[in-house]
Amino acid sequence: MKKIKITLIVFLLLIGCSQNGSEVNIYTSRHYDSDDELYALFTEKTGIQVNVISGKGAALIERIKAEGENSPADIYFTVDAGNLWKVQSEGFFQSISSNKINSIVPENLRGPNNEWIAIAKRARVIFYNPKKISKDEIKNLSYEDLSNPKWKGRIVIRSSNNMYNQSLVASLISNNGIENTEIWGKGLISNFARKPQGNDRSQIMAVANEEADLAIANSYYIGLMLSGTKGSEQLEAAKKVSIHFPNQNNRGAHINISGAGILKSSPNSKNAIKFLEFLLSEEMQKNIVNNSYEYPILENIDPHPLIKNFGTDFKEDRTSVTDYGELNPEAIKLMDRVGWK
Ligand code: FE
Repeated sequence: MKKIKITLIVFLLLIGCSQNGSEVNIYTSRHYDSDDELYALFTEKTGIQVNVISGKGAALIERIKAEGENSPADIYFTVDAGNLWKVQSEGFFQSISSNKINSIVPENLRGPNNEWIAIAKRARVIFYNPKKISKDEIKNLSYEDLSNPKWKGRIVIRSSNNMYNQSLVASLISNNGIENTEIWGKGLISNFARKPQGNDRSQIMAVANEEADLAIANSYYIGLMLSGTKGSEQLEAAKKVSIHFPNQNNRGAHINISGAGILKSSPNSKNAIKFLEFLLSEEMQKNIVNNSYEYPILENIDPHPLIKNFGTDFKEDRTSVTDYGELNPEAIKLMDRVGWK
C-alpha cells in the first residue's frame, strides 16, 4: 500500500511539474550559435527545459500560423523591430506583463501594448576609410547628408529588400516626412558606388578595399570581423575602417534591436516571462554583448571591448522602434519609387 502511495505521489508530482510547465519553447530566427549558451544557462539556473526551433523568420511565422491555437511556441525571438512588428500585426503576441521588464527596457525599445521588447541594441552606422576621409571631414555627417552630390559614386549599402535598410528609411520618414525622405532617397541612390549587393559585411569590405568611401552597416558586424571568426581577409579589412556615429539633427545614431515577444497561445507563458527577465539580467546581458557584439539594454554593462573601442559616448536616436514597423510599408514603397534596387 505504502509503495502504491509513493508511486502515486511521484506520479502526481510529475504531472504537477508538466502542468506548471517545466519547459519553454522558443522559435528563433537569430542565427547566433552563442544563443545556445543562453538557453543552457537558463536551464541550469531554473530547471526549466528550453526547446528551440530555429529557422528563417517567414518560415517560422508560417509554422506558427499552421499550428494555430495548438502551437507549442512560447517565445518568438528575432532581430529588427520591423520583424517583431510584423508578428504583432498578425495578432500573434500578447502583452508582456512584468514590472521588471518594464523598468529595464525603455519605452522607445518596446512594441505597442508591450507586445515585444528589446533584448539588445544595434546601431546602423557609417563606416569610413580613415585613409580617404579625415575625421574632420566626417564629424558632422548626418544620414541626411548622404544625399549630397559631394558623395557621388562613393557610398555602398545593401539592397532595399533588407529589413535593416527598411527600418532606417522608416526612421527617416518618421522624423523628416515622406516627401523629404523621398528627395533624400533619390540623392542617396545617385551617390551609390555600385549596384546594391551583398550583406552588411561586404559593404564594410568595399570601404576597406577602397571601392567606396562610405558604407552603411550595423555596428556589431565590425566586432564579428575583428574577432577573426570570419577569417583573415575580413579581419584585415575590418582593421582598415572606422565608425562614424551620426549625431546630427538633434537625433543620433539609428538604433535597432534584437528582441522577443510572447505568443498569445503560449502554453508556458510564466516560463516565457522568466526567460525574458533572465535575458535582461546583468550576467546574461554581458553574455549577449560579448557574443553578438551588440549593445546592452542595461546601461551599467559595457559592450564588447572591440565595440567599446569605437566609442560609447555617442548619441542614440530615441525614435520609437515601433515606427520602423508602422512605417515599413511606406519605406518599401518609397525605396521602390526612388529606384533603390
Ligand atoms: Fe545582422
